[in-house]
Amino acid sequence: MKYTDSFLEELEAKLNAGGRVSEEEARRLFLTNDILGLGYLADKLRQQRAGMVVTFVGNYHICYSNICLNSCRHCIFRRNPGDADAFTLSLEEIETLAEESKKSEVPEILILGGINPELDLGFFIEALERIKKRVPEVKILGFSPIEIDYLSKQENISLDRLFDLLRSAGVSAITGGGAEIFSRRVRNRLGCADKTSGELWLEIMETAHNHGVYSNASMLYGAGETYPERIEHLLAIRELQDRTGSFTHFLPFAFTDKDHPPTTGYDDIKMIAISRIFLDNFTHIRAYWSHLGLPGAQLALAFGADDLNGLKQKGRIIHSSGGGSPKLTEREVMIDIIRDAGRIPAERDILFNIIRTYN
Ligand code: SF4
Repeated sequence: MKYTDSFLEELEAKLNAGGRVSEEEARRLFLTNDILGLGYLADKLRQQRAGMVVTFVGNYHICYSNICLNSCRHCIFRRNPGDADAFTLSLEEIETLAEESKKSEVPEILILGGINPELDLGFFIEALERIKKRVPEVKILGFSPIEIDYLSKQENISLDRLFDLLRSAGVSAITGGGAEIFSRRVRNRLGCADKTSGELWLEIMETAHNHGVYSNASMLYGAGETYPERIEHLLAIRELQDRTGSFTHFLPFAFTDKDHPPTTGYDDIKMIAISRIFLDNFTHIRAYWSHLGLPGAQLALAFGADDLNGLKQKGRIIHSSGGGSPKLTEREVMIDIIRDAGRIPAERDILFNIIRTYN
């Protein structure tokens, strides 16, 4: 491969010798216009770390409530109590949905919602127990650090105690939601000033990992942040992964807002490639097709991604915040686009164990 930016050649040599990407080098990656060279390097690292398999997961979402005390600017999912379309599921409804999930034969149930002050830890523990009773073999991906933060304060218990309880009730992993971008400046601009801070998000993740609860890591970009702010975020994630090794994967996702210019194709693809190159302690990088669209996500597979996330959706925050793709993507479509990219499709579980490969 002939790079048009000689810096990429130097960086490749450094990485081959076991070096890591520094912050200054990450900045140069964001500034390069050698998009094909960037893709070549990211794809080579993807091949080394994740091989030829591209995974997706069949999951079933139980959204327990869209009522939320917070008011993040990019969220059109949240409702105020009393709004005509505000909802909160009862424990019986949650149990019914868990029973229904059997039809989908999914390995994972995702349970999440807004910060609803009417719900307490007792409600969630019972919800988890009811889900486990109905589908004991299914792994539960439950809650984001935002919900964890709220619950720990509402119940006045430590994060350690909370994770003990959630783990015992069946939670295998929590989501990476609410990380947004750690920069306080950008969080304030996004209307997330009152939400769990970046520092606390990291502390919650480290505590979860120390209790055997896995999670993903994410980053919101294209919200007016600078490259150094993106790099600061990536570095904090890389450092925590060095300590715990319990992030299952990383996903960058673009900010969407009607009053804000959308990210460009170059930026989206670069973000995937730089995530792969910088996060040398992550095996899996996810292309978020809900935001990139299926064609964009397929292209991202040539720029470092090796996971396309989920098939089934049911009441989901991400769609309410502006994703333009269909809510339901059938297994066959996912398999086709992976095969078309010259890779091997496989279904995984929450912890990236391969359940089925489609050769
Ligand atoms: S993104 Fe989450 S915390 Fe923010 S308003 Fe929406 S539901 Fe609430």
